[in-house]
Amino acid sequence: MDVSTAFNYTSYYLFPLFASPSNVQIHSIRTIPFTNNPPLNTPSNAPYKERISLKPYNTFGIDVTADYWVEIFHLDDIARLLGTDLYRQYPHFILGGGSNVLFPGDYHGLIIKNSIPGVTVISEDECHVVVRTGAGVVWDDLVRHCLNNGWGGLENLSMIPGLTGAAPIQNIGAYGVELKETFVSLDAVQLDNGQTESFDRERCQFSYRDSIFKRSCKGRYLITSVTLKLDKKPKMNISYGPLKAMLSEKGVDQPTIQDVSRAVRAVRSYKLPDPSITGNAGSFFKNPLVTGDRFAQLQDSYPDIPGYPVVDQSDSTGGDITASGGKITPSGGKITSSGGRSPSSSVKIPAAWLIEKCGFKGMRDGDAGVHKRHALILVNHGRASGEQLLGLARNIRETVLEKFGIALEPEVNIVNGDIGIKP
Ligand SMILES: Cc1cc2nc3c(=O)[nH]c(=O)nc-3n(C[C@H](O)[C@H](O)[C@H](O)COP(=O)(O)OP(=O)(O)OC[C@H]3O[C@@H](n4cnc5c(N)ncnc54)[C@H](O)[C@@H]3O)c2cc1C
Repeated sequence: MDVSTAFNYTSYYLFPLFASPSNVQIHSIRTIPFTNNPPLNTPSNAPYKERISLKPYNTFGIDVTADYWVEIFHLDDIARLLGTDLYRQYPHFILGGGSNVLFPGDYHGLIIKNSIPGVTVISEDECHVVVRTGAGVVWDDLVRHCLNNGWGGLENLSMIPGLTGAAPIQNIGAYGVELKETFVSLDAVQLDNGQTESFDRERCQFSYRDSIFKRSCKGRYLITSVTLKLDKKPKMNISYGPLKAMLSEKGVDQPTIQDVSRAVRAVRSYKLPDPSITGNAGSFFKNPLVTGDRFAQLQDSYPDIPGYPVVDQSDSTGGDITASGGKITPSGGKITSSGGRSPSSSVKIPAAWLIEKCGFKGMRDGDAGVHKRHALILVNHGRASGEQLLGLARNIRETVLEKFGIALEPEVNIVNGDIGIKP
């Protein structure tokens, strides 16, 4: 089947249903044969559904329902969708792999599931290769694809769940590396007018687990592709403690990108709960940043408080989900009262430490809980509702605020919900 035939299937199945939500009927699940630029991860779900359970589509495993659901495979699908009554009359939410979202309740609107496939080499020379990838490609499939081709830059970001289109939203990061380091640009459709716009690194305003798409552009754009520049002669970044330890334990002193990826996968598998077994969305909160003065005051009351000096807010090192198993060990830059650092520089404090100090690590309230090895990870032990998990998150936030005077900010995207009032 050629590309146009494949697209006709999409059009046929997808759009006759959209004329008006009142006359859409419930259709059984259909599979679209899709051969356009064979994806690394071939989506095979129905393009349109009603009253669908989102349980398989969020890694917390919360059993909520969405009123309407459409799956997007192609730019033209978006253009047509934007012209429908269904889109105009209902609120919408863009969903990738659902590994960074919390649904506190049913979603009364349209879920737009991004499944745009394809990985294409745009250009290459002796040293670099520039790759454009469809936003629906599974992130870790892309990492493996790059590893298999000997292209370096993504190995430290191995095994992060989710899709490529969501990676820029929070500038994903792990083991001392962030997406922004390989990022060139992305294409996104402005949902108000259907125009495609390009965002380079500067326009994305990346910082620590943040970008313009979590702020002024939140919900306004659907990212359709991401372009990355990878190294054919990769320089390894193994500065992160647990990674270095794992490699030296294996006796590897000149690691290849495959060695680094294997070490990352081993450390992550050991330390992080597998969402297919225990529902979770990785770090629930971001690590807070305080001024040097404020940190010095905290040290007076809590001499063992860890902190990492931060020159630039986007610095991803120190105390994130990939730090040493929730036992935060400052990586040499700990600020001490006599440490000679400027009290006005910013300091990042591991949220896991603050949460643990408030007694939440390993606690459980019904099926909502905090992971026993990692206080930054909220877990669903089985049948927790989104409301219960949000309640627990609010309780943690309030307790930390009361004890330390620090307001934790969620890293997870709470759909139609809020963690609390900003102080
Ligand atoms: C076990 C575990 C470990 C994790 N470890 C890490 C880690 O080490 N580092 C890290 O940074 N993150 C980590 N995460 C968080 C998560 O994997 C990433 O944030 C990931 O990029 C989310 O991708 P997703 O496709 O699942 O996005 P979703 O959860 O589906 O969506 C996240 C947000 O992005 C928006 N969005 C998604 N796709 C698009 C699009 N195409 N266009 C516009 N908006 C879009 C959604 O509306 C939502 O607001 C972890 C999560 C888990 C469960």
